[in-house]
Amino acid sequence: MISSLFRNHDYLRLFTAQVSALFGTGLTTVALGLLAYDLAGGNAAAVLGTALTIKMVVYVTVAPIVAAYADRFPRRLFLVSLNVIRAAIVLALPFIDQIWQIYVLIAVLQTASAAFTPTYQAVIPDILPDEREYTRALSAAQLAATMETLLSPMLAAAALAVISFHWLFVGTAIGFAISAILVITTRIPNAGTATEGSFRERISAGMRIFAATPRLRGLLGLNLVVAAAGSVIMVNTVNYVRDTLGGTQSGVAMLLAANGFGTMLVALSLPRVLDRAGARPVMLAGAATLIAGLGSAIALSLANTGDWRWSAAIATWALVGAGTAAILTPTGQVLRRSSQPADRPALFAAQFSLSHLAWLITYPIAGWLTTAAGFTTTWVTLAVLAGLGFVAALRMWPRHDPEVISHLHEVGTIDPARLLDAVRVDDRFYRHTHAYVIDADHRRWPAPQRRQLETAAA
Ligand SMILES: [Zn+2]
Repeated sequence: MISSLFRNHDYLRLFTAQVSALFGTGLTTVALGLLAYDLAGGNAAAVLGTALTIKMVVYVTVAPIVAAYADRFPRRLFLVSLNVIRAAIVLALPFIDQIWQIYVLIAVLQTASAAFTPTYQAVIPDILPDEREYTRALSAAQLAATMETLLSPMLAAAALAVISFHWLFVGTAIGFAISAILVITTRIPNAGTATEGSFRERISAGMRIFAATPRLRGLLGLNLVVAAAGSVIMVNTVNYVRDTLGGTQSGVAMLLAANGFGTMLVALSLPRVLDRAGARPVMLAGAATLIAGLGSAIALSLANTGDWRWSAAIATWALVGAGTAAILTPTGQVLRRSSQPADRPALFAAQFSLSHLAWLITYPIAGWLTTAAGFTTTWVTLAVLAGLGFVAALRMWPRHDPEVISHLHEVGTIDPARLLDAVRVDDRFYRHTHAYVIDADHRRWPAPQRRQLETAAA
């Protein structure tokens, strides 16, 4: 399936460019943690929490602005420049000796990344005009991101056995440079003048669909669960390994690799389960797994000694990876099921913003609360947040969630061409049945059958 996609050489180059940039970013994640520990020691969590919060603020603010104006620049030049900027910033990171310098460089680095992502995403449908190929490209991108979570820390762990973490930044810069070269050799059409609405219009269209679709309201809760557990991995791993377990740099990378291993194992075995069980039970099981992982981390934080903590920590980190994959892997499918093809970019953009908003809540907690109050308090707080997200998802996303729904339309409110197979109920309403998504003709989610008729009769 995916192989036919790669016969498109422009797409293949662009995809490889994206993968190189992903690996660059992944190595930075490991190296940045170690750099923060080098400069701040026990306060590394606060530094990482702040740096990642800056990243999320940049993502939530810069990405929409860039996306709104990106079509005014020559896109290939724009993408290449962003990769060159990222490579340069990363090469500057090993020379840092003050914490504030990390924040400045991360702000610039993530601004470039935040500008890269939406521009790259907007290019793909132009290169792959066929709807099915575009959908496959979205899955391929997700798979690449999943593999990266395992492979970058493993690569980092292997590298750290022979070199110091400063060299990881060089690896990152090489990733961005390869990415830049591949983009140069790709034919990227510049954006047409007639783009469908400004980014703000598209974002608000996506948000409307989110607010009106019960299963997407559930997804909001699940985003929070993912961010709560993921923050522990991203922000707290370095201090937990170095200070509590007394481990080395390789130990940090190893725990991150365990997390990636859990992610990949579940992501690869999930498609068959998803076909049988559907997204809801899988994603809710993922959320329960993440809460169990947080519970296990809390228990670990209460233990002061013992080598068994290493194996327990590896299992816990892998458990969190597994739960994360169980929620993230089906997300694209849930978004597709909930939108007309024309609304999909808007809906994916809305999910991008909303999921980052969740990280914006949890990163500062994982960073600053750990430094002030220790692991146990922080992880209990995050577990409570995750519990709230889980309960919200459970309540908002009804168990009975059919794709095809029989519903009413008031006479004269919808294009008659869409009512060809409809049955007249009375002088005001038509009833028909089809796969239901929120769009211009279906602005609200239909109430259950009995209530529909009561409303119609009233
Ligand atoms: Zn309808």
